[in-house]
Amino acid sequence: MHSDHAIIIGASHAGAQLATALRQQGWGGAITLIGDEPSPPYQRPPLSKEYLAGKRDAEHLLIRPAELYAKHDIQLRTGCRVIAIDRAAREVELGSGERLGYSKLGLCTGARVRPIEVPGAGLEGVCYLRTRADVERIRQRVTPGGKAVIVGGGYIGLETAASLRQLGMQVWVLEMMGRVLARVTAPPVSDFYRRYHEQQGVNLELNCQVQAFEGGARVERVQCLDGRCFDADLVVVGIGVIPNQELASETGLEVANGVVVDACGQTSDPDIVALGDCCQQPNPYAAAPIRLESVPSAMEQARCAAATLCGHPTPNTSLPWFWSDQYDLKLQIAGLNSHYDQVVLRGDPDSASFVAWYLKQGKLLAADCINRPKEFMVAKQLIGRGGEVDAEQLADEQVAPKALLADPTQ
Ligand SMILES: Cc1cc2nc3c(=O)[nH]c(=O)nc-3n(C[C@H](O)[C@H](O)[C@H](O)COP(=O)(O)OP(=O)(O)OC[C@H]3O[C@@H](n4cnc5c(N)ncnc54)[C@H](O)[C@@H]3O)c2cc1C
Repeated sequence: MHSDHAIIIGASHAGAQLATALRQQGWGGAITLIGDEPSPPYQRPPLSKEYLAGKRDAEHLLIRPAELYAKHDIQLRTGCRVIAIDRAAREVELGSGERLGYSKLGLCTGARVRPIEVPGAGLEGVCYLRTRADVERIRQRVTPGGKAVIVGGGYIGLETAASLRQLGMQVWVLEMMGRVLARVTAPPVSDFYRRYHEQQGVNLELNCQVQAFEGGARVERVQCLDGRCFDADLVVVGIGVIPNQELASETGLEVANGVVVDACGQTSDPDIVALGDCCQQPNPYAAAPIRLESVPSAMEQARCAAATLCGHPTPNTSLPWFWSDQYDLKLQIAGLNSHYDQVVLRGDPDSASFVAWYLKQGKLLAADCINRPKEFMVAKQLIGRGGEVDAEQLADEQVAPKALLADPTQ
């Protein structure tokens, strides 16, 4: 038995926040935060944005100053991989063979990139973007005027395209679907992003599926199923992620699309919580348990999971929200738009400042706010409040954002 030792596996947004939240919420025992990357926990969102574009240095990526962990008596072990969890013995096994006992365990193992499975995928110059090391690999291949082919027109692909354009590369984005951001936004928002990227000189190829990467010592061309072919000095693949849930499943915890947890973050073992990109959790704004890939979500889950480990189970009822920065466009997304039956626009997309409101049966589900911070704040409140909204007012620019919060029944 190992009294009062919380071990956290995975030292990124979820793990770093869980460690500090445990201290804030009165955990008096030892805390060990174990991560397999060499660096103290750092922020991932800037990787495809300011960091890749050379506008932020590594030091300014850190989630917290490295000394802060020791200050809060948190033992941070970087470059260290957990290879197994022994629930009967309440121990974790490290790659070195060392075993550490725990009384409570936090699984914050995140997600890894989905590999593209086509011939030539292993060629030098075919890169992914998940870690700082990935960005260093990409940067080594950036040359002004060089040709970058990005596979995938989701947020990561488009942010990478924007950053590589700013570094002077010629950029092609190959998207399998008929529009970019197809999985996450409505057609008017996809069309806006397509046009904006094209205005910045990005070549967007839709309905375009990669068949193979070709080259000698390194990638030189991308061959697509319909015969289209693109020269490439650099390829960046951004086709989604896979949750790191093997440690959990191998130790007999329930997994689905992520480690299955309840609203308080608890797994099927009461002494183990899971949070962040690796978990699937019920959410009051989703019809079924959902795996969210977002920093705000990981932070909220950490606050609740810490309380749960300290003996005060606390459900996560927070409204999901996300953001994406591309060029001078700040997209802020409130809520989850799945199964919407109406999209209402406020503002003209050509002005690069507009909102797409997503409604279902007269209620607001979500909003994509492009350079519209006031509407984003309003959307969060309206969605949280529930109840019907007036679509005409949402669309009407004469109605100030704050006035949208007025209770229609008053
Ligand atoms: C390029 C990029 C841009 C993004 N942009 C945004 C954005 O604009 N807004 C937003 O909200 N979100 C964004 N995200 C998503 C966001 O970064 C993730 O939701 C967030 O990182 C999830 O944090 P996490 O701690 O759950 O997992 P991760 O960040 O995936 O961290 C998990 C950590 O655990 C480590 N690990 C895994 N297994 C083990 C093991 N067995 N032993 C030890 N360590 C292990 C991993 O190596 C990793 O360091 C972006 C992600 C990327 C990659």
